[in-house]
Amino acid sequence: MEKLLENIIESNRRYTVQGELASYIPELTKANKDALGIFITTLNGEEFYAGDNEIKFTIQSISKIISLIIAIMDNGKDYVFSKVGMEPTKDSFNSIIDLELNDLNKPLNPMINAGAIATVSMIRGKDKDEVFSRILEFTKKLCGNEDLKVNESVYISEKKTGSRNRALAYFMKSTSIIEKDVEEVLDVYFKQCSIEVTSKDLSKIALVFANEGVSPWSEERIMPKEVTRIIKTIMTTCGMYDASGEFAVNIGLPSKSGVGGGILAVAPGKMGIGIVGPALDEKGNSIAGVEVLKDLSHELELSIF
Ligand code: GLN
Repeated sequence: MEKLLENIIESNRRYTVQGELASYIPELTKANKDALGIFITTLNGEEFYAGDNEIKFTIQSISKIISLIIAIMDNGKDYVFSKVGMEPTKDSFNSIIDLELNDLNKPLNPMINAGAIATVSMIRGKDKDEVFSRILEFTKKLCGNEDLKVNESVYISEKKTGSRNRALAYFMKSTSIIEKDVEEVLDVYFKQCSIEVTSKDLSKIALVFANEGVSPWSEERIMPKEVTRIIKTIMTTCGMYDASGEFAVNIGLPSKSGVGGGILAVAPGKMGIGIVGPALDEKGNSIAGVEVLKDLSHELELSIF
């Protein structure tokens, strides 16, 4: 297995030069564009890794699945999906046009930025610090890693330059999708996107989904089975944004990407996969990471379809 992973990483490194770092968050341009790594944790407790699996990066949009879990556990699925849809999109992850033109009168799904910001606004807590601390503590539990922290420079960089996310959020305040103070909701969103992880952390989160919500190392149920079913479905249909259809055909694993270069992929009943590769394609997915997953899914026949 280790040999297989090394071969897959080395043969796909050439794709990194074709991608770009996410420059709209200035701090993310400091990442190593050539990096590529993978970490796999299996349900039998085995760990396999290859490449630059140890580098740290910010979780970015992968955090959207974590806030969705908490919002559903706080409010129930019917309330959450009364404010956010569950339809895939053909537009980009920061699309504004979808907000005004779709006839749902709510963001299309919780994986695009508008939907994720609305989701964060539904998480309970007396103030923004309590809401963020619930998200961070829950993420630590999902990865079994007490040391997770926010990358302060990425957080500040994103908060300073986040005009597009502000536009989405204020629009949703005007239509009452967001009920709380907009700046407080955005502050939590920027912070959750700036939580720093490794490919190992992502593989651990994925493993909890592969095990239907029970942490395989502590045997604690972290979320109801029904919630894992909803999240895996939303990841499959919307997790890779407007590339989700192609990704389902070629790879066939519930997955979520982030502009920090991470991809989390779940092989249900088998393993959790974490990928890092900061060079992105034009849709905001790790360009070489997608190729790595394609080879891995093919070699190990992982597609759920
Ligand atoms: N923090 C990023 C943003 O809001 C997340 C986007 C992403 O990872 N696709 O733009």
